[in-house]
Amino acid sequence: MQTILPLPTLQSWDCHTCGTCCKEYLVTLSLGEANRILEQGWTKEELGGLDPLRVKKGLFSKKTVLNHDAEGSCVFLDKGGRCRIHAKHGYESKPLPCKLFPFILIPTGGGWSVGMRYACPSASASLGRPMPEHLVDLRKFAEELLVRDAIPINATGTCAEVKPPQVEGNSFLEWEKVLAMAKGLTIPLLDRKVPFSLRMFRLFHLASDLRKAKLSNLEATKIEELCTILAKHLPATVTASQRDQTTKPNWVGRVLFRQLAAICLRKDHGPNRGVAEQGRLALFGAAWAFVKGRGPLPKMHKWLPDADFRLGEEPVENLPLEVERIFERYYLMKVGSLQFCGPTFFNMPFWEGIDLTLLIYSVQMWTYRILKSNLGETEAAQKALSIIDDHYGFNRVLGTFRQRLAYRILGATNQIERLVAWYGK
Ligand code: SF4
Repeated sequence: MQTILPLPTLQSWDCHTCGTCCKEYLVTLSLGEANRILEQGWTKEELGGLDPLRVKKGLFSKKTVLNHDAEGSCVFLDKGGRCRIHAKHGYESKPLPCKLFPFILIPTGGGWSVGMRYACPSASASLGRPMPEHLVDLRKFAEELLVRDAIPINATGTCAEVKPPQVEGNSFLEWEKVLAMAKGLTIPLLDRKVPFSLRMFRLFHLASDLRKAKLSNLEATKIEELCTILAKHLPATVTASQRDQTTKPNWVGRVLFRQLAAICLRKDHGPNRGVAEQGRLALFGAAWAFVKGRGPLPKMHKWLPDADFRLGEEPVENLPLEVERIFERYYLMKVGSLQFCGPTFFNMPFWEGIDLTLLIYSVQMWTYRILKSNLGETEAAQKALSIIDDHYGFNRVLGTFRQRLAYRILGATNQIERLVAWYGK
């Protein structure tokens, strides 16, 4: 039986048949899943005149995906919002990605940790049954995933053969040490005595201290102890006034930050697609607007209001408690589950993934500032998470050499700390 590790935060979920996943995502199929759908014998008449599958060609690869109609919905989604495969052949006949969404199973040595896609509205609002009630399904999905993705298994059938993510450069640590580091980094995020923005600032500092330590010589339990000791000193050494006095990011930092924001806001597919539907020239104009960072904000995503770039620079003094809890849940989940590095995150090394997660936080807060100009605060927070999380671990651009170079430049010039301080408040 597959082991599912406990979640680092309280989270609930159930499908509320909003159809978001079936309208907004291209589902990539394994050969077995594609064949199974073909064997089901779907006719064009049943699917609005369309083929069930199509081949998507990239520069160096091609993959088979579920076909979509002109409005961007999966051809199997019927007018009533139900899945035709599910209705005709039963739940088990659906492709694994459809059953798994919005969960992400992350191999972590002998067991699996669970991440979530907050692009699902029910996940970002934590609606439904608590996670322990999903355990039976998650174990089953893990079994299916091992076969579907040909994940290496050991003699007892677990994913223990999967290599841990690099820590930095070419160095590796054992799984239990990597898990201990991730758990340790969640300590400042749990400190509800201080605003969440300060907790993220402290996460940056804890990560910086831990990064300098020689962890390869320590046992996993000692790493946990070290994290606890370092975290204990954070309230005295990393204060709100220190955060407030942090220098504003320089222009290189702000340009690279806005470039990351443009990537994370962009929606090219489905009913919420933004300027992408106007063609390449419009996208080019939008990219240039993000470099300048002045004037009207291009609508990269339909949820963005008519706004000016200036709106993203206006500080948010105090986040309402409900919004704090939403961000807290999100980052506990991302950091504690190891979703930020390794095989589910473009094989990114541990510390680089933490850097990017801190940058993503800055982008989310910037997006929140813009969205809350015409939405309630809770809705603005949930939508900011949904928009950005669409890309977290899924938009390959975030893992390209060019982007990774940008994160390194931001790290080497102390811009990550400044961006977290500046946009966090
Ligand atoms: S196959 Fe069914 S569940 Fe999967 S995307 Fe299409 S409609 Fe949704």
